[in-house]
Amino acid sequence: MDDEGRKELEAQWTRVCDRLRKEIGDKAFKTWFGEVEPGESKAGKVRLYAPTRFVRDWVSRHYGDRVLAYWHAVNPDVSSVEVNLVPPPTVKRNEIIAMPPVPAPQSFQQPMPKFGPAIGRGGDEGFSGPEARYTFANFVVGKPNEFAYAAARNIAEQDKPLPERNPLYIFGGVGLGKTHLMHAIWHAIRERDPKTRVLYLTAESFVNRFITALRTKNTGQFKELFRNVDVLMVDDVQFICGKEASQDEFFFTFNSLVEQNKQIVLSSEKPPSELQDIEERMRSRLGSGLVADIHSSTYELRLSILQTKAEGARVPVPTNVLEFLAHKISTNIRELEGALNRVVAHGQLIGREITVEMAQDVLHDLLRQADRKVTVDEIQQRVAAHYNIKLAEMSSPRRARSVARPRQVAMYLAKQLTTLSLPQIGKRFGNRDHTTVMHAVRKIEELKVSDISIAEDVELLKRQLQG
Ligand code: ADP
Ligand code: MG
Repeated sequence: MDDEGRKELEAQWTRVCDRLRKEIGDKAFKTWFGEVEPGESKAGKVRLYAPTRFVRDWVSRHYGDRVLAYWHAVNPDVSSVEVNLVPPPTVKRNEIIAMPPVPAPQSFQQPMPKFGPAIGRGGDEGFSGPEARYTFANFVVGKPNEFAYAAARNIAEQDKPLPERNPLYIFGGVGLGKTHLMHAIWHAIRERDPKTRVLYLTAESFVNRFITALRTKNTGQFKELFRNVDVLMVDDVQFICGKEASQDEFFFTFNSLVEQNKQIVLSSEKPPSELQDIEERMRSRLGSGLVADIHSSTYELRLSILQTKAEGARVPVPTNVLEFLAHKISTNIRELEGALNRVVAHGQLIGREITVEMAQDVLHDLLRQADRKVTVDEIQQRVAAHYNIKLAEMSSPRRARSVARPRQVAMYLAKQLTTLSLPQIGKRFGNRDHTTVMHAVRKIEELKVSDISIAEDVELLKRQLQG
C-alpha cells in the first residue's frame, strides 16, 4: 500500500473508532481496541492487527459485525474486515538506527513482512537512513520555530547532556517540522562524531516492538536495543498515551538512560501538560528537561520556506505565486510543500507558465478545502459572539481595543478562510481601506506568536467556522 492509501485507511479507522467508542464506552474501547491497528486494505477487504491472540479472538467474536458495519458506513466499498495477529517486527522506515560499526542486531535484519505496517516511502528493505534533506541547513528558521531550532542545535553540538536539558521535548502541530528537526539532530551528531550511537524511532514503533517482545517472550532482545545507545530519539510520543504497559516500559527505558547520562530527545503534538491518559510520574518526567514548542507558522515563515524551496526548483516560480500560496495554505508546512511541488510539476510537465491563476487551477481541490465556503457574515457573527461584542462593531469606526482587536481577528480569518481580496474584505468591514486589512492580518500573525490566548482564540474560531 502506498502512503496515500495508508493515510486514507488510517483516517477511516479513526472514524470507525470514534463510533465504536461512542457505542461501547471509553473503558471497553480502550481495553479491546486500544492497541488494534489498521494493517492494510485491498479490494474491499480490510485487515486489522491485534496485539495478542486473545484480543484478536475477542474482537472478532464480539465486535466483528459492528466494526464491519461502521466501516461500511464510512466507506461503502469495504465488504469484509479481518482481524489478524500483528506480524513480527522488522526494520521499518520509521526507525533509523546508527550503531557502532558492528553488524546491526539480529532483529533489524529480518525481511519485511508481507503486510508490515511500514511507514515511509517504501523501496529499500532493512536498514534505512534518515531523510537526507532533513538537515539544519535546510530548516528555515523564523519566529515560530527559532527556539526549538536553537534547542535542537544545542543538543546536537554538546559533548555531554546537561541534566537541565535532558530530555529535549519538542512539541507542535502536525507538519510543522518536528521530525525534520529530529533527523537534523541525527545528521549533526553523526557528522560530528560518527561513532556516536543514535537511535531514532517513532513511539508507534517503540510500542509495536514492545508488544511483540511481550508476545514472543523476548523482552531481553528488546531491552538490548536500548542498552548501548548514546542518544535516544522518540518521535510522536503522544502515541504512547493510554497504552499502559508500553508506558511503563518507556518510563523504565527512559530512566535508565537518563541515569547513564544519555541524551534523550522527544517530539509530541502536545505539551506534557496536555497529554491525556498518561501517568503523572511519566508526565513530569517528560517535562523535566527542556521543553521547546514550535508555534503554528506565520505568513513570513511560510513565504521564506517557499522561497527557499523554490530556489531549488527547476522552473522559476514568480514571487506573487509564492505569496499566494503562503497566504492560502496555512495549515502546515507539509501541505505547503506539497502545493508548491504540484504547481512546479505542472509548470514543468505541461510547460505551462506559472501564474496565480494557474496555481489556483492546479490546486483547486486543496484551496476549496481551505476555503470551505466560509462567508464573511459567518466570520463576523462568530467572532462577535466569541468576544461578546455587537455585530455592528465589525463595521463601526470605533477604535477602542475591545472592539478593534476582535475586528482584526475577523479580518484575519476572512483573509485566511475566504478567497476574497484585501479590498473586498475591507469593504465588508465598514468600507475600510485594504491597507487596514493588511495591517490587521499582520498584527494577528504577530500576536499569534507572542500571545497564546490570541493564538488559541484564532484556532478555536477557525475550527468552529470550518467544522
Ligand atoms: P512534523 O513531524 O512536525 O509533523 P515534519 O518534520 O514531518 O513535521 O515536516 C513536514 C514537512 O515540512 C517536511 O518535509 C519538512 O522538511 C518541512 N518543514 C517543516 N518545517 C520546515 C522549516 N522550518 N524549514 C523547511 N522545511 C520545513
Ligand atoms: Mg513527525
